[in-house]
Amino acid sequence: MTNVIISTSRYIQGKGELEKIYNHVSALGDKVFILVDAFLVETLGGTIRKSFEENGSPCTIEKFNGECSKVEINRLLEVAKDYDVIIGVGGGKTLDTSKAVAFYKKCPVVIVPTAASTDAPCSALSVVYTEDGVFEEYLFLPKNPDMVIVDSQVIANAPVRLFIAGIGDALATYFEARATLNSNGNTIVGAKPTKAGIALAKLCYETIIEDGLKATLAVENHTVTKAVDNVIEANTYLSGVGFESGGLAAAHAIHNGMTAMPETHHMYHGEKVAFGTITQLVLENIGSDELNRVIEFCVSVGLPITLGELGVKELNVKQLQQVAEIACAESDTMGNMPFDVKPDDVVAAMIAADALGRHYHKKCACK
Ligand SMILES: [Zn+2]
Repeated sequence: MTNVIISTSRYIQGKGELEKIYNHVSALGDKVFILVDAFLVETLGGTIRKSFEENGSPCTIEKFNGECSKVEINRLLEVAKDYDVIIGVGGGKTLDTSKAVAFYKKCPVVIVPTAASTDAPCSALSVVYTEDGVFEEYLFLPKNPDMVIVDSQVIANAPVRLFIAGIGDALATYFEARATLNSNGNTIVGAKPTKAGIALAKLCYETIIEDGLKATLAVENHTVTKAVDNVIEANTYLSGVGFESGGLAAAHAIHNGMTAMPETHHMYHGEKVAFGTITQLVLENIGSDELNRVIEFCVSVGLPITLGELGVKELNVKQLQQVAEIACAESDTMGNMPFDVKPDDVVAAMIAADALGRHYHKKCACK
């Protein structure tokens, strides 16, 4: 049995860390190429440029074209050919593109997420799309980013809904890792989880349950508190290591199935993963205490607990069957559940999870 844990080599987090970016990255190389989301070039780009200039070191800032596509990756490989460090600053696509460019160039990459909306920043994975934004391939990378720098104030300045979505993504981590462990399943890297991977997934869950609401209220007011820092670490690092080295199971498979529901396309990854998590817990028929804790937590931070809140106006069993078929595909992670799950089971669990959510809302009269 092979047990593997993978992670970024250096994770740095704190308020104002971006102002010190030169100090953090200078050991990695001299010629630094920085890919930045278009709307952040003036603001965060300015902060980064200042840090380099104050240290008498040049840097080149390039605007990201908006899609993590082969065309954009190839364009950047050409523009960045004389540089020896790549830094990606922005949302998921900018970060994935930076990872891909550094992989092909065989140079170090530094990842600077500007929202704590998913656990992707620390991962050894890029998702590549066509120019029109259609999924093309997963680019599995041989190593995680050399460094991840998270400026807590930058995260708190982003819209709170992104932060909440990140909590939704982090909510799934422990339950999926637990299922993988119990099924003796494999993680993304094709190995068994280590004790450390499982422990970090558990800490991720405990952290968001303890600090999720406090942190959400603080971020709503664009302020950084200890709770905010704890949840940023849970959303970004603990969930990142937890999912990659703990394993994925039903929650993400159901999320992937929801691509067959166009009504949910405007929802964020983590918002759909939260509903996928409740559905997984229904499949497992876990105890009422744990189930209620998760549902109440979702309501407290503003994560959706019904299909209606995800944009589905009417339950359509045919459509749910389609979702379930995709979720149970051989290539997805449903096989990491500790028991056999058939599409029919998924349909039933989604209907039951939705009913639970509606029941809960009626009971607490909050919706
Ligand atoms: Zn996720």
